[in-house]
Amino acid sequence: MSELALKGIQELRGLLESGACSSREIIESVYARIQEVDPKINAYLKVDVESALLEADAADSRRSVGEKGPLLGIPVAIKDLLNVKGQSCSCASKILEGYISPYDAGCVAKLREAGAIPFGRVNMDEFAMGASTERSAYGITRNPWNLDHVPGGSSGGSAAAVAADEAIVSLGSDTGGSVRQPASFCGCVGLKPSYGRVSRFGLTAFASSLDQVGVLSKSVADAADTLGVVAGHDSRDTTSDRAAVPDYGKSLDGSMKGTKIGIAEEFFGVGVNPEVAERVRDAIDFCVSLGAELVSVSFPHLKYAVSVYYILAPAEASANLSRFDGIRYGNRVEAEDPVTLMCKTREAHFGDEVKRRILLGTYVLSSGYYDAYYVKALKARALIKQDFDKVFEKCDVLMSPVAPTTAYRIGAELDDPLALYLGDICTIPSNLAGGCGLSVPCGFSDAGLPIGLQILGPAFAEERILRAGFAYEQSAGFQSQRTSLFNV
Ligand code: GLN
Repeated sequence: MSELALKGIQELRGLLESGACSSREIIESVYARIQEVDPKINAYLKVDVESALLEADAADSRRSVGEKGPLLGIPVAIKDLLNVKGQSCSCASKILEGYISPYDAGCVAKLREAGAIPFGRVNMDEFAMGASTERSAYGITRNPWNLDHVPGGSSGGSAAAVAADEAIVSLGSDTGGSVRQPASFCGCVGLKPSYGRVSRFGLTAFASSLDQVGVLSKSVADAADTLGVVAGHDSRDTTSDRAAVPDYGKSLDGSMKGTKIGIAEEFFGVGVNPEVAERVRDAIDFCVSLGAELVSVSFPHLKYAVSVYYILAPAEASANLSRFDGIRYGNRVEAEDPVTLMCKTREAHFGDEVKRRILLGTYVLSSGYYDAYYVKALKARALIKQDFDKVFEKCDVLMSPVAPTTAYRIGAELDDPLALYLGDICTIPSNLAGGCGLSVPCGFSDAGLPIGLQILGPAFAEERILRAGFAYEQSAGFQSQRTSLFNV
């Protein structure tokens, strides 16, 4: 295997521009790495190298006639819930086994326009419901830092692939933390853009008022470049915003001077493991040494965030997943009448966690409980949003842990859904408020597992969180530490 797979977008772009390597060579190198390490990790569900090589040749020809671009000729691993025309899209569920997408998702179309190459379908929790990638119908993905541990989730395949250098960059999705938390568990960068920043067209819907396409990468600059390509208005998603897409790379000036960092103690009091709290506090102190200023803020409604999310997200999921009935979509189990057909299909092909969410969602939306649960949760969501509005009057960004723990052992939390749900406490609020968030590696536990620093911003303040994340990353240098499990 050549060394190309080990590099990030910035370095590869330099090599491509100087003619030192071709896009075809990058695909070949990444594919060799996949063959070498993926039998241990299981990050990929499918890899179609032949079509990727053809697209790489097309990108190389575009470059040969003078075209340039931040992602031209760069392969991007795609979470298995984003549609790529002609490729499978199973959402890691048996119900969509064998489904072939008839069209490209909005973000995938933008990747193609830019000459990037969708390469490989990466594993996830079924329909993005989960936080460990143990809920995939196609086997668990392992954490490249310790194969006995989970990679986080639901974009665990994306994070593990990037961390094990078997992807240059990957697209995931974040409804309650699914980009930031696996990034934290696997020691890579995870960016959840603001709601409406990236088109959700062709992103298989979980909870439509919370879902957002995000980026998992080896550096903050790579995340900024990828966001710049996939962001922007798409008339096929009415919630996608018309705001112009800034040049995110420009905001990365390496400085933290004058940045007001908000710290809310509530984010450290929610079962956060002392080792995680310590590393995150050290990282924040380090930012102060770089010229940032600390502001103490409060988040009085944080305690309601998990409950609110686990009412609203299942409610929306129960409606969204009704289309998988064996008639409109889904692997059919034949039966004598349509109702039995739907029941048998859904019984046979949905996993337990998906069924739990559908039951929860149907319950909170049913007459008699709608006001007590659903409407109340909407009101509490508004209070959480107000907390953020007040916080961002006083500071530019909010810093906190991404997750209360490091990556746990495979199987440790599988029988305790509530414990898993509580692990989303630090990430969920930003989805509820529609803001943006970044996870940046900030150190390791004594057991050698990565820890992430979360940097949150208000809606459409991606430049702000990327600038802070970049300045921290450049000085702290954790992004250069790669897993030693697969030294080449
Ligand atoms: N862990 C959360 C859940 O299970 C978040 C998932 C996500 O962001 N897709 O719902």
